[in-house]
This record gives sequence, structure tokens and C-alpha cells, in this order.
Amino acid sequence: MRTGISVEEALELVLAEAKGELPVEEVPLKEAYGRVLAEDLVSLVNHPDQDDTAIDGYACRQEDALGASRENPVRLRVIGQSPAGRPFAGRVGRGEAVAVYTGAPIPEGADAVIRVEDTRREGDYVLLFAPASPKDIRPQGDDLRKGEVYLRRGDLLTPGRLGLAAAMGYPRLKVFRRPRVGILSTGDEVVEPGEPLPFGGVYNSNAYSLLGLVKEAGGEPVLLGKVEDQPERVLEKLEAAGPLDLLLTSGGVSMGEYDVVRKVLETAGEVVFWKVKQQPGGPLLLARLGGLPILGLPGNPVSSMVTFFLYGRPFLFRLQRRTDSPYRSLEARVLTPFKGAQGKKVFRRGVLSFEGEIVVRTTGSQSSGVLRSMALGNALVVLPPDRDAREGERVEVIPLTFVL
Ligand code: AMP
Ligand code: MG
Repeated sequence: MRTGISVEEALELVLAEAKGELPVEEVPLKEAYGRVLAEDLVSLVNHPDQDDTAIDGYACRQEDALGASRENPVRLRVIGQSPAGRPFAGRVGRGEAVAVYTGAPIPEGADAVIRVEDTRREGDYVLLFAPASPKDIRPQGDDLRKGEVYLRRGDLLTPGRLGLAAAMGYPRLKVFRRPRVGILSTGDEVVEPGEPLPFGGVYNSNAYSLLGLVKEAGGEPVLLGKVEDQPERVLEKLEAAGPLDLLLTSGGVSMGEYDVVRKVLETAGEVVFWKVKQQPGGPLLLARLGGLPILGLPGNPVSSMVTFFLYGRPFLFRLQRRTDSPYRSLEARVLTPFKGAQGKKVFRRGVLSFEGEIVVRTTGSQSSGVLRSMALGNALVVLPPDRDAREGERVEVIPLTFVL
């Protein structure tokens, strides 16, 4: 077992556990939003299908209307129309025009269009008050070319990508099965909301903040309830958990007599590391139990959320083969001081905003027990070991992507 490792080393060890391949399932487009593609998608069509018009107006031969102006309009004979979806079947000859509507194919023989605002219809004729031009013709395949790959395995299906998949002609998509993530809360003092709170009790908030985080990362949370601080009970629960891709425990990984998660996993499983040089979340533990990766998150509500965000979320991204990164750093100017810690990388909670430049303020108390900081904040302020951040300084911030 490794101990006292850096954030970077810990992340590497966690990612190395994401070896499994998630099964693939097929879903209709309307259920694919937020899922992760399990196949590359080749466009089945050209878009536009043909050269088409981007404007309402008239299609004609460019050379017929070169000198057209208000003073010297050009008169063309209108031989038909081409609404979107009902293309004109004939051919445009010299001195002729076809009325076209946005999205309609350019009729054969025409190579230019003019917008309706620069024309006047007179019976079977149209007057052009400006030259017609090819610039408002969208060439065939301008957006999508048949046979090209536009979406890849591992791409999260965002609204734009879902639309793109539809535009390419796919009614159903192959996506990865959502990773199943067990959530087990430990602690004699932990009580479900709705039950009376005994003296010294605390409501089980971790299960629900983690549920949200797991969902946000594309996983399917499996709530395993809570377990007392007794090794046999913890082991029972772990072994009865059912098929999972990752198990999260909260609590029981510190130094105390009742920190049973670590003790149980040391004997029944295999602990990869325990303790990371960071704050909050220092007692984080990574273990395996019969092939199942387990993240032992510290019980403090902020610590469990921050460690899941920093390690559990990247693990789930890797497992889903996601092509986007689990988090990105920005630089922000500090408006309130943030305290660092000796020998530890620190993740404070801040509120990020744009006030002529990107700025960040504290959410207030930065104690690991103050869950409000995670509810009010929208970013983690990252301080390297042994560094405070004073007002006016620039710091690294990681937006909590699920609120920005
Ligand atoms: P532990 O990591 O077990 O030492 O717990 C650290 C702190 O987090 C203690 O104050 C616990 O009461 C609190 N805590 C542990 N589990 C939970 C939970 N599921 N929900 C809210 N607070 C918790
Ligand atoms: Mg505990």
C-alpha cells in the first residue's frame, strides 16, 4: 500500500483501475441525450443534399444579371418555383429565373441567387435591382459529407451532437451502458433524512450529494444505504453489493479507532493507496475487493464531494472512454484571500464570476464540514502546497462543471 502520495500520483493510480470495458447498448435518438457514443458515426448523407439556396428569392444565371441596379433593373422570365422539399424539375435558360425558397435545391442551369428583397415580381416576370450572386448558394455537403466521420466513440451526446447524429441519418445510437456506482455511507451517527435525529446524529447528506455527482458524470447510482462502524457489518454490505463498476464508501478512512473501512479493506481486499497530500480529502483511500475498484471517501461532506470530483469523476470518464476532459482549469483574479496548507495541495470553494475579467471570491467558511460551501460555490480554487493566495493575485480555478 502506498501512502502520503501527491494528487497527481493518486489520480494516475485511480485511472489505472478503469480497465474494464462497459457493455454497449442501442437506444433511440430521443433517449440518447447525455449518453456516451460507443461507435464512430459516419454520415449517411450529404448536407445539404444538393447545392441549395440559403435565402428566399430567385435563382438564375449570374451572367444574365451582372449589371442589375435600382436604376437599371434586369428583367427575367419566371419559369417556375422550387420550394424546399419540392424541387423544380426543369432547366433555367438564358433570361430565365425560378422562384426559390430557403433549403430548396438550385435548379439546373442556374448558378446564382438574388434575395427577394432586391426584386419585384411583375406577373410572369421579375425585376432584379441588384446582381444575383453565388454567395448565398450552400454547396452540396457544405455541412456534412457522406462517408465522413463526424462523431466518435467516447463523445458525450450534447444537444448539438444529438442533432448532428440525426442530421447524419441515424435513428438509433450505440452507447455505453451507464457505469453502476454503489454508494455506501458508514457511521454509527449517520441517520436517513426523515428519521428523528438522535443526540450526536447527522443526516446522511453524502449519499445524496454523491448520487448527484455520479449522475452528472454519466453513472447510475446504486444506493446501498448506511452501515454501522463494525467491520463484520461493513464487509457484509460490501459483499452483498451486487454487480458494480465502482463502489464509493463515505467515512471510516481516517485515523480513528472506528475507521473501519480501511481496516476491512486491508484484510478482505487490497488497498492501493491511503492518504493523499491534499486538503480537503486527505484520508482518501483506493482499494480493490474481488476486482471491484473502491474509492473510500472521507466522511466530511465537503471532502467526499471534492474527492469524488477529483478522482471518481475522472475514473467514470475514463471508463466511458469519454473524449472530453473531466475538468479544465482557468485563471482567475482573487477578490478575497484563500489560505493554503503546509505540504498539501489545497482545493478551496469559490464563486467564480466575470466582472471585466474572471474573478473568484470565497464561499465563506472553508471547513470540510461546511457543506454549504459546495452548494454556494461554483469552482474549486487550487493552491499548490505551502501557498496562500492574496487579494489581487491570479490563481488556478477548476469550475465545477455541473453548475457552470
Ligand atoms: P469520518 O470520515 O467517518 O471520520 O467522518 C467525518 C465527519 O463526516 C464526521 O463528522 C461525520 O459525522 C461526517 N459524516 C460521515 N458520514 C457522513 C454522511 N454520510 N453524511 C454526512 N456527514 C457524514
Ligand atoms: Mg465515521
